[in-house]
Amino acid sequence: MRNIDLITLHCSDSSYGNAALIESWHKARGFRMIGYHYVILNSYPTERSYSEKRPEFQFDGYVETGRPSQMIGAHARGYNRNSIGVCLIGRSQFTGLQFGSLKRLIAEIQRQHPQACIIGHYELDNNKTCPNIDMDWLRGILNS
Ligand SMILES: [Zn+2]
Repeated sequence: MRNIDLITLHCSDSSYGNAALIESWHKARGFRMIGYHYVILNSYPTERSYSEKRPEFQFDGYVETGRPSQMIGAHARGYNRNSIGVCLIGRSQFTGLQFGSLKRLIAEIQRQHPQACIIGHYELDNNKTCPNIDMDWLRGILNS
């Protein structure tokens, strides 16, 4: 089993999407498969649902599995070996259901990897703002 001490958070920097869409982006960049281990959807899983302003509320907060967690991901340069990558769909606004699912997912990961800390991509890479969430605030609500 991999030694996981980081749960690295990302956002898709898109208003819509799902694991299949992100996988298509990552394959276009030359990855063999999606680089994240988990993707947490909002209510716009597809470009069409967003452009037609037809939210699909059953997807809000839905957690999709990307790369199997036992495989090293491709999401945080220099930190992939020891981390699990989680991506929230959105640019800078996320839903309560996404945060609720994130909290449950983190608890599940930490049951298997009690050492794992929650960190934002920008805290590992000064050139990033991802996930566009103040991580001190987020850790506060996740721990409450
Ligand atoms: Zn990121």
